[in-house]
Amino acid sequence: MSKYETVIGLEIHAQLATESKMFCSCSTKFGAEPNTNVCEICTGQPGVLPKINKKAIELAIKTGLALNCKIEPMSVFARKNYFYPDLPKAYQISQYELPIITGGHLEIEIPNEGENSNSRLRKKINITRIHLEEDAGKLVHKGAERIMGSEESLVDYNRGGTPLMEIVTEPDIRSPLEAKIFMEDLAHLLQYIGVCDAKMEEGSLRCDANISIRPVGQKELGTKTELKNMNSFRFVQMGLEAEVARHTEMKASGEKIIQETRYFDTKTHDTKSMRSKEEAHDYRYFPEPDLVTIEPDHKWIEEIRATLTELPEKKRERYINEYGLPNPIAEVLIATKSISDYFEECLKIENKPKEIANWMLVNVMAYLKNKNLDIKDIVFSPRELIELIKLIEKGTISGTAAKEVLIKALETGKNIKDIVSESGATQISDEGALQQIVKEVIKNNPKQVLQFKSGKDPVIMYLVGQVMKESKGRAKPDLVQALLRKELS
Ligand SMILES: [Zn+2]
Repeated sequence: MSKYETVIGLEIHAQLATESKMFCSCSTKFGAEPNTNVCEICTGQPGVLPKINKKAIELAIKTGLALNCKIEPMSVFARKNYFYPDLPKAYQISQYELPIITGGHLEIEIPNEGENSNSRLRKKINITRIHLEEDAGKLVHKGAERIMGSEESLVDYNRGGTPLMEIVTEPDIRSPLEAKIFMEDLAHLLQYIGVCDAKMEEGSLRCDANISIRPVGQKELGTKTELKNMNSFRFVQMGLEAEVARHTEMKASGEKIIQETRYFDTKTHDTKSMRSKEEAHDYRYFPEPDLVTIEPDHKWIEEIRATLTELPEKKRERYINEYGLPNPIAEVLIATKSISDYFEECLKIENKPKEIANWMLVNVMAYLKNKNLDIKDIVFSPRELIELIKLIEKGTISGTAAKEVLIKALETGKNIKDIVSESGATQISDEGALQQIVKEVIKNNPKQVLQFKSGKDPVIMYLVGQVMKESKGRAKPDLVQALLRKELS
């Protein structure tokens, strides 16, 4: 056991899912031609006036409600002054002393490090505050070095002014794994309630971490370093692990840890010192004189609360308790809101949770994963899935044939009924037609027939398999077996 304890606090930037920017009406659409989604306001021309995007406030409040936070009755925007090429105004509008949201927590589930490695422990990670701000533009470095020393840099202001929500946690996280789990759960929640698409790889969710180590039992915090540039959940864990190892080694060799900003090098898997873009850290914050204070009234907050759908954790419990689904299946069904919406849409048509879950997980989800698609991208409706399940139950098609029909429906968008009637996939339950195939199979497999007759009963399954193959999966296996046994007795 390590004699040091790790202490981690996170600062998360989440891009809010608004159509327009924080203080102007420019589009926030990702992937537009550089410098086309810009105007006088978001490029900071003299004499313009910013205006608060009400939707951004709404989404921040929604997040606060989902994370059990306090929505502040009054908050203000402030100017954070610094110079950098991606910030044309030379100040960023942010919130400082009076953020819109304070307090709150997110409960995560972490592995219990006790004797039973399978058990999980629930842990509360407290939220310090959530504030609103605008994003900066994006520098595109040409040349080999990503961070520094580029030959040439270009700037795209499309992202400048995009609404961001900064979520700051208390230093409650005790391991890199916990940090990763927290990020995954938070991303899941934000995506669920529709405030952020939460894709770390695309930058709509970003994570910086403050990390330090201290001797176990010590109250006082050790010297912290700030770690940036962890653009995937895996890198959050890997970056922090590298930093814990570095701190531990330095302590062991008696070296002094310097408070600095570092970044995770995803190629070498270690952390490197990064010259901070603002060495002095004196942002000379002052209240933004061009914007009014935010004072959301009680009625509006309650209206926003009413739009909060059932949160993933509650949903998972309900799927287990109400529908009797095992936990791993419930987990997949709540993985995204679109998946659980699909599942519940199916349930509304036919109350068969187990069959629906089974067909969704084993077949539909496997197909989507294979094609790298989201369930929202397919035309295959819940009504069609129910149709398929009903056809199997009625014995019109076999389970094997149903799988093929399903794939065809997913690929072509045709409806189940048409595919079934076109392909002749209906089950052969007519004994006469099957009899013919059974006889052929017996004739073509003399060796296995002999084995069966000499007492090797399990060989019957091989013969059943041959009949199923010949019938292209359209026969009923139990009927085939009965016919075979009759024929061979
Ligand atoms: Zn603009």
